Amino acid sequence: MNHDACLSDGELLRYHRQINLKGWDLQGQERLKRSHVLIIGLGGLGCAASQYLATSGVGRLTLLDGDRVELSNLARQVLHSEASLGQHKVVSAARRLAELNPYLQLQALAEFADELNLPDLLHDVDLVLDCSDRRSSRELISWCCRAAGVALISAAVIRFEGQVVSFGWQPDEPCYRCLSQRFAEPDGSCVTNGVAGPLVGMVGSLQALQAVKWLSGAAVVPGGQLLLIDGRTLEFMTLTLQPDAECSICGQRHRLSA
Ligand SMILES: [Zn+2]
Repeated sequence: MNHDACLSDGELLRYHRQINLKGWDLQGQERLKRSHVLIIGLGGLGCAASQYLATSGVGRLTLLDGDRVELSNLARQVLHSEASLGQHKVVSAARRLAELNPYLQLQALAEFADELNLPDLLHDVDLVLDCSDRRSSRELISWCCRAAGVALISAAVIRFEGQVVSFGWQPDEPCYRCLSQRFAEPDGSCVTNGVAGPLVGMVGSLQALQAVKWLSGAAVVPGGQLLLIDGRTLEFMTLTLQPDAECSICGQRHRLSA
């Protein structure tokens, strides 16, 4: 975390409407400036989430994605354009994010998250946003974040279905595997199942909202809280996940401590 958190006059004016929020205050804005967030995946969720983290005043973003921009991405991945077709998504996204906020420090890594690079990347990160598009990736990211003790906000969207879940890794909290092995969840790929672009934007924005609340201290973000969204009916359901004693990742710990 960067400890140089003095806000310039330009920053005070830029973030004035947030600083005025009860519970956010100047201290919350300074905490945002000191924060470093790792965003994994710069597709639809990552585009939506990263633009609000950038404009909200998070001090430092690291973008991680080995994918390149394709024409079929442009219906929902709003940081990319026809001019960025064929470019790495992290390069295209970083260029646009830098335009949105000149105070932002950006690092763009054109590689996919794996068990080799994640432990190093998590070393000086305050929070991870999982905006990846595979269940196996989300389980790996959860495993690595839990091992490193780095808070995680994970999301997924397929068809008209979306979900957001937060993990702070308190002793009584579940992990992502507790969720994925018990609940019907978005799986498969957007290529074969399709996905509603505005829903992706909404779910990514919800990730950003949870992130700025967590980092600023403006509101509580309960670990293990799962939000399920039906984009067809606009039904929202919030559940509090309990640790699964049979979970292959964290279940053993709970059996030992029972
Ligand atoms: Zn678990």
